[in-house]
Amino acid sequence: MKPTQSTSAVRHRCRLRGIGLTAAVTGQDGSNRMQLLSRGDTGPAVAEVRAALEGLGLLEPADAAHSVFDTALFDSALEDAVRAFQQNRGLITDGVVGPATYRALRDARWSLGDRMLCLQMTNMMTGDDVFALQERLLELGYDSGRADGAFGRQTEQALRSFQRDYGMAPDGICGPRTLRHLGYLGRKVTGGRPGLLREQERLHRAGPRLSGKRIVIDPGHGGAHPGGAIGDVTEAGLVSDIARRLEGRMSAAGMEALLSHGPQDCPSDAERAAFANSAGADVVLSLHVDANPSPAANGLAAFHFGTGTGATSTVGEALAGYIHRELLARTRMTDCGVHPRPWELLRLTRMPAVRVEIGYLTNAADRAALLDPAFRDVVAEGILVAVKRLYLLGQNDKPTGTFTFSDILQREEGSPIGA
Ligand SMILES: [Zn+2]
Repeated sequence: MKPTQSTSAVRHRCRLRGIGLTAAVTGQDGSNRMQLLSRGDTGPAVAEVRAALEGLGLLEPADAAHSVFDTALFDSALEDAVRAFQQNRGLITDGVVGPATYRALRDARWSLGDRMLCLQMTNMMTGDDVFALQERLLELGYDSGRADGAFGRQTEQALRSFQRDYGMAPDGICGPRTLRHLGYLGRKVTGGRPGLLREQERLHRAGPRLSGKRIVIDPGHGGAHPGGAIGDVTEAGLVSDIARRLEGRMSAAGMEALLSHGPQDCPSDAERAAFANSAGADVVLSLHVDANPSPAANGLAAFHFGTGTGATSTVGEALAGYIHRELLARTRMTDCGVHPRPWELLRLTRMPAVRVEIGYLTNAADRAALLDPAFRDVVAEGILVAVKRLYLLGQNDKPTGTFTFSDILQREEGSPIGA
């Protein structure tokens, strides 16, 4: 069974488009000559800072009863909001709006897609959107230099290479077409989640062998919480059986397979994630069987970390895709897709994590399949092969559904590179 969507995990992002934040504070260039704004100050510059922080959701919007004099006063509430903004931007938290805070407020107006981005020699474009683009290019392997939120020469060169590689005119301009291509790759703009980049780096360093990899297998539910149940057939019982079959195969392949909990326990998702983190697992596989009020609902779905609009675990997404494809090719289950979700187990784990819902207990055909031990062997083998594919990075592999357990054992024992 699936948890409900955690709304707190989906970061709400306000736009500041259209808010000036340029005129009043200083001279035309927003340079160091600006006056500092702090508690007790008044004026249009204060009102602009207030509007910017309201737009970011850091300050309650002043209600209509407030006069312009109230909104133009730098009061203690505004100071608190400035401090909060400074803190989450890594600025000195002094509650005073100086040049650095001012610049950061100005940059925070932009989200990727709000405007065209390109190299402007005289007045370099800066903003959170540039930062997001740089992070995305880095994530895809294009060296845009340190992600600093300023569109300089190196960012332009990286963008041109990306465009050339993806069949676009390499004009160095990030417009709708380029953004679409960035999106087509299935990985969303991350806005700076270095943890997700480290996942990729670790994967590339890990090498193709399964031997020595540490996998946490997380059978859903357990103990007093059986999950879905039809008669005496329970989700917890089925997934714990599949988990043991998978564990056996992984151990035979030289992997360190750990179960997240014993059959008598049902830890929370946060506890399961903490277990995987403290075990230093390379990958977490969470096994579930779905249930639905409609007996017609059936099929296989896989989930990886992602907010849908922001960060996505690209390695998690790749592994979810492999598992999904292998299991579909090896069974007759209906394709219910691969989806990003911000669920706790996926979000709190520091390594790629995939949750798979293997059919519906409430569907007669899925249930009959799941009750067949041979089917559960096929599922365990398919998942093991999917993990192997992840570490092969798409090289030297066989068509989906044809790789067998003995192929894997042979490869692990045979060739020194394990490939
Ligand atoms: Zn479940």
